[in-house]
Amino acid sequence: MTVRIDEARVFEIIEAKKPKVIFVNAPGGLLGQTKALMEKVKAKYGVTSILSGDSCFGICDTVDDDVEKLQADMALHIGHNAAVTEVGDHTYLVDAVDDVKFDEVVETAAKTLAPFMRVGLATFSQHLHELEPVKKRLEAKGFQVHIGKGNRLMLEGQVFGCDFSTSYPVRDQVDAFALLGESEFHAVGLALATGKPTFMLDPYMNEVTDMQAAAEERRKRAVLAVYKALDARVFGVITGLKEGQKMLGRSRWVSERLSANGRKVIQLAMREVTPERLAPHREIEAFIQTSCPRISIDGFTFDRPVLSIPQADALVALIEGREPGEFLERSKWIELTVGLIKK
Ligand code: SF4
Repeated sequence: MTVRIDEARVFEIIEAKKPKVIFVNAPGGLLGQTKALMEKVKAKYGVTSILSGDSCFGICDTVDDDVEKLQADMALHIGHNAAVTEVGDHTYLVDAVDDVKFDEVVETAAKTLAPFMRVGLATFSQHLHELEPVKKRLEAKGFQVHIGKGNRLMLEGQVFGCDFSTSYPVRDQVDAFALLGESEFHAVGLALATGKPTFMLDPYMNEVTDMQAAAEERRKRAVLAVYKALDARVFGVITGLKEGQKMLGRSRWVSERLSANGRKVIQLAMREVTPERLAPHREIEAFIQTSCPRISIDGFTFDRPVLSIPQADALVALIEGREPGEFLERSKWIELTVGLIKK
């Protein structure tokens, strides 16, 4: 397996914009390749790169606001391919692609998927170019294959950990989803959001994993956290400060609903929601955070309920005497603001 950053695009941008200093951020798994690229850029163009030392988990982690603080000329956000290629005033998205092939794991998957003849295909940034070849292979074996349409932010068949808006609309046309790539994170999300049987196709180990048990465990924890939060009288409502997940409107809405229903609300803002950051706020009995929903859905280390937006909706519904329904089954768990960032 080799993940390759689209260096040609980086060189094109530099030749066109002629920056002196660039600010770069990339996910942890791509830091080695990113540092090598920064050296190449220095040798080829004499351009200085500053690498962000903050976390970079998703496309929400762009750093457009920081370019001016660092007196840089532009930012490169590596590894989260999308339908948008530029963000804000200064930021260019740069793709990274994994060259691993799915030929072998498709053969394994064809046996596992046999009871589900209508299959939805989805994947994340690094394997998007494999969707069509896998579709053809499955169709040759008699499967009916659907790939969800792209939209303003996402490419055809793409999913993020919080946004399944390409796959969600085709859920009624398929019997199961197949997620290309070794990512329980994306596969569990797809299973929870669509409510469909979902299988993860790992091309490195040639393994096909049924995500039902893992998804059900997360679903139960998510529901339990909502019911635990029902007893809380003091809430912390956290707005994330990352530029792609600023959900002030949702924070205001949930604060208003909780206050109207007799709960005390303390509004907070932070870049990273971690047990350490929440620890000093001892008087708060439950938190609602409107930043990355996966902090809540996968975060098993908090000592008090920390609810995501869909869980907050369920909580408010319960407080106000309405049925919460299958609150995780929706096309998006957060409305990412990437691509809408305007100065
Ligand atoms: S908000 Fe979405 S894109 Fe950002 S880290 Fe969380 S799951 Fe990924």
